[in-house]
Amino acid sequence: QAPLAVILALLLSAVAWIATAGRMSFTREIALGIERREFELYCQPQLDTRTGQCCGVEILLRWNNPRLGRISPDVFIPVAERENFIAPLTRYVLSETVRQIGYFPPNPQFHISINVASSHFLHGVLLRDVSQYWFAARPQQQLVLEITERDDLQGVDYPLVRELHRKGVRLAIDDFGTGNSALSWLEQLHPDILKIDKSFTNAIGTDAVNSTVTDIIIALGQRLNIELIAEGVETPQQAHYLRRHGVPVLQGYLYAKPMPLAEFPRWLAGG
Ligand code: C2E
Ligand code: CA
Ligand code: CA
Ligand code: CA
Repeated sequence: QAPLAVILALLLSAVAWIATAGRMSFTREIALGIERREFELYCQPQLDTRTGQCCGVEILLRWNNPRLGRISPDVFIPVAERENFIAPLTRYVLSETVRQIGYFPPNPQFHISINVASSHFLHGVLLRDVSQYWFAARPQQQLVLEITERDDLQGVDYPLVRELHRKGVRLAIDDFGTGNSALSWLEQLHPDILKIDKSFTNAIGTDAVNSTVTDIIIALGQRLNIELIAEGVETPQQAHYLRRHGVPVLQGYLYAKPMPLAEFPRWLAGG
């Protein structure tokens, strides 16, 4: 009967409305969170096993929301990306990193890696933000932008990428090997660094197929003269294997978990 169809349609649109409202309010929560400075920057050291020194850090966001509690970046980053709200978060990370730059060694060999969504590479926005927040402050350290291979490359502004390169910013491809466009990315982005995804690091010594992929990624990086960083290193066996196969820079719980920036100097000093 007609009334039943009408009721159904009404119900469906109500469900859709609630779903949209839920997403909207989560985006609003993120906006409020930025305003109220609920986001905290953590950093995870990267070790150069050739020298035994920490050669840089990756900045990782943490969100402690007073109403919802601690929210993982694996939850809020995808929402922010879907709702076109990632740029404000990246700006927050850039400006907070610069504000707290004093925690890091003022050394041009020391790099600071920031995660950037590929959607932020559009239309010069990223260049403006990097100029405004990073170049303007003239930090001594090297800036690395990590872009995830799972992202869509459509619409990436290549002249912008070249301009960032020209200005000395280095580009890393994150989670390398987990997307489906690995080879075209190499050709188009001319990355400086490939980050071997932790799923491949975990496979070392346990999973024949994935350890073969690890070996192939290493060979690829070496042949193309691209620096390699392995993430998710948890065991001495993995570290040993990676070093022996020519991956010098390692990141993972074996060395340090992500920590608040203020704790980094003490960690670096060995305490
Ligand atoms: P990612 O960029 O691949 O970061 C590495 C993740 O692996 C981090 O999770 C880190 O804490 C975790 N990790 C590091 N070492 C180990 C290890 O040895 N074992 C294991 N099991 N995990 C390890 P986290 O901090 O929860 O971040 C998750 C993801 O959220 C990141 O993955 C990144 O894609 C995204 N993310 C975090 N912060 C930001 C940010 O500021 N901007 C953007 N766009 N994305 C971010
Ligand atoms: Ca990353
Ligand atoms: Ca990664
Ligand atoms: Ca990841």
